[in-house]
Amino acid sequence: MTDQSEFRAALESAVEHALAWRDDGPKTPIVPSVTADDLRLAFDIGLPARGRDGVEVINALADAALPGLVANTHPNFYAWVQGGSHPIGVAADLLTSSWGQNAGIYQCTPASAIAEEVAGKWLLDLLSLPKDSSVAFTTGATMASFICLAAARSEVLHRAGYDLEQEGLMGAPRIHVFLGREAHTTIHSDLRYLGFGKQDLIEIDVDDQGRMDAADLKTKMESVEGPKIVITQAGHINSGAFDPFADIIPITRAHKAWVHVDGAFGLWARAVPELAPLAFGVDGADSWTTDGHKWLQVPYDSGFAFIRDEQAHLRAMDVTASYLVKSESDGRNPSSYVPELSRRARGFAVWAVLQALGREGVSEMVARHCACAKHLQKRLAEFDGLTILNDVVLNQVAIAFESDDTTQRVIDHIRTENQNFVLGAMWKERVILRISIIARQTSLPDIDVLADSIVSAYRNVKPASVR
Ligand SMILES: *Cc1c(COP(=O)(O)O)cnc(C)c1O
Repeated sequence: MTDQSEFRAALESAVEHALAWRDDGPKTPIVPSVTADDLRLAFDIGLPARGRDGVEVINALADAALPGLVANTHPNFYAWVQGGSHPIGVAADLLTSSWGQNAGIYQCTPASAIAEEVAGKWLLDLLSLPKDSSVAFTTGATMASFICLAAARSEVLHRAGYDLEQEGLMGAPRIHVFLGREAHTTIHSDLRYLGFGKQDLIEIDVDDQGRMDAADLKTKMESVEGPKIVITQAGHINSGAFDPFADIIPITRAHKAWVHVDGAFGLWARAVPELAPLAFGVDGADSWTTDGHKWLQVPYDSGFAFIRDEQAHLRAMDVTASYLVKSESDGRNPSSYVPELSRRARGFAVWAVLQALGREGVSEMVARHCACAKHLQKRLAEFDGLTILNDVVLNQVAIAFESDDTTQRVIDHIRTENQNFVLGAMWKERVILRISIIARQTSLPDIDVLADSIVSAYRNVKPASVR
């Protein structure tokens, strides 16, 4: 076979598998039942001495993987805050891989650099963030916050008269980092990568929805001297709640602090006029993180860092070498804004998904998911035996039954029914059934199915004596 015909045959085979997976008909198990050992057996077929036929390889890959895939492209997927890879994004990604570009620097792939530049501008517009902010296309929200906090670290030291890039972290004045007690766990990872220890962190009290208490922040910021970073949240992982930015940001000004916003999913409320007030004041911050691969449905990996002060961003991330040339008329070098040099042309899929959804498509989807969450709340309110622990303001519904044991058994029962993919979490020291409504196609009829299955699972697991 020629190279080209082998490529065509392998692609066609991959496309068939892709279409079968996305078929809306009866699914392979929505909850995989396969064990790790089953998968080891399926994958560990030995490294062949000689290469195999391409179509055979693609078929073997699909056979081995299928039993261990999770249905997060399915409308009844509620287990994590995850997106479902928009089909047009997937097609764009296939093209991206086929083009085989390295999007590190402009001259390496001019088209990719400009696609990121333009898509970045659209994102700032959709999210109503300061339009001159710099944008980095990352692997996800974890790395986006890493970048934002690296810029923050450089800038707050700079404001204190210390040149981090020249003098290094070891001799730097101590930076205090203020964050809510219920900050997302990945923020703690980012801080660790950046050289912060637990003793540098000052945790701020939160209310019953996990929102930062602005008065406590004020008191605690006044209690220490020196450079300060404040990390807030748009969209709490269990409740969907937003920190009170309009109260928080003015407090931080007197301290010349940098305010970062982890808005991995919640920032998308800004794309819906009726929901935008949830994040009121958020545009006064210095940096923002959101994901592409969650609510925007861009295929993995996709996240964005937005930074008001481009110079601080570049100080933290820029990379230079004689062969990384850039002339005056070139576009920006994507690698100047992220930790990697060689990288995937991430902007193409983002550009394509934004074109496929349009401003109204993004807004309709986010609004629909939030309406679904309210609908679930309403359906479950008719029913004794459970409590919804959060104010349902966004797409998250945190449900607890009379005991942790019952909640866990309800979750297990729903999972065995194989109709809805749900999972538990811990919040407020209770086991919760945490429903995240974020899969692209989820709509009200899906929520009726879910509500029925929650109620019937409860009836099933409840001891007969109290039924
Ligand atoms: C998902 C999430 C993250 C981490 O994002 P990744 O894209 O998985 O790296 C951070 N913060 C919040 C609030 C999240 O929901």
